[in-house]
Amino acid sequence: MIVCKITCRGILNSHLRARLRNPWSSQNMARPSSDLAAFREIFSKAKHIAILTGAGVSAESGVPTFRGAGGYWRKWQAQDLATPEAFARNPSRVWEFYHYRREVMLTKNPNPAHLAIAECEERLSKQARKVTVITQNIDELHRRAGSKNILEIHGSLFKTRCVSCGHESANYKSPICAALEGKGAPDPNTSDAGIPVQDLPRCEQAGCHGLLRPAVVWFGETLDSDILTRVEQELDNCDLCLVVGTSSIVYPAAMFAPQVAARGVPVAEFNMEDTPATMRFKFHFHGPCGTTLPPALARHETEDQTV
Ligand SMILES: [Zn+2]
Repeated sequence: MIVCKITCRGILNSHLRARLRNPWSSQNMARPSSDLAAFREIFSKAKHIAILTGAGVSAESGVPTFRGAGGYWRKWQAQDLATPEAFARNPSRVWEFYHYRREVMLTKNPNPAHLAIAECEERLSKQARKVTVITQNIDELHRRAGSKNILEIHGSLFKTRCVSCGHESANYKSPICAALEGKGAPDPNTSDAGIPVQDLPRCEQAGCHGLLRPAVVWFGETLDSDILTRVEQELDNCDLCLVVGTSSIVYPAAMFAPQVAARGVPVAEFNMEDTPATMRFKFHFHGPCGTTLPPALARHETEDQTV
């Protein structure tokens, strides 16, 4: 399927929009099942599993999202600072925010949901079966848990992009530059560090020295078309889809999972919420995904025990 330009967190392409307008049209309206044995039966035969993950998976590792009630950095939330306009206006403040988020990740670890997904990918790869993680999370906890096939649709806290030459690179420095050392405190009484732009993270490509920005998708920006093409391939090829830590009415699962379900492919949700949208899916497992996912993805009795 060709993906039209999809703008982050908002505009759906016409194909999906039509489907979402009347999501029940061709779907079975029966309540989704929470029968784990029935899920496991389908799981044991799946050759190509797509796992969509969202903020709920990170939240169970204690990663702050700066969204919703109480989710503030100083007096701002993510939607105030995670924009191209905020960066153009005050790159020092935005870099303080991202520096803080990078440093916080040094104290966080993958949880049982991340680990179950990674273990499942590793085990099934030896049986010529594929698991792909499609995540909106930018914290790299899936990678740290050991997942290999990861499509980060919102980028990563640990990648930078040069605003001059466009070069992207991985960056795990702590602090990312000398001027940010000790900066980024989240307390609402903290003043801006007011770091001169030449002292913020700069491009190291020969002769460039342009300003770097976090290589994440900000509000109002378009998703990377190469990654979206790969996501579409995974969604078109999968024979089982899991939606983990994000409800099916919330982006991005709202865009991706319905097109899988519409092909007649089983979709299983693992999250804290039960919404009317879950009715179009085959399974729904309610609760923290760190609790519900490990038994769901554990080795099935029919799997080859030698690999
Ligand atoms: Zn550059």
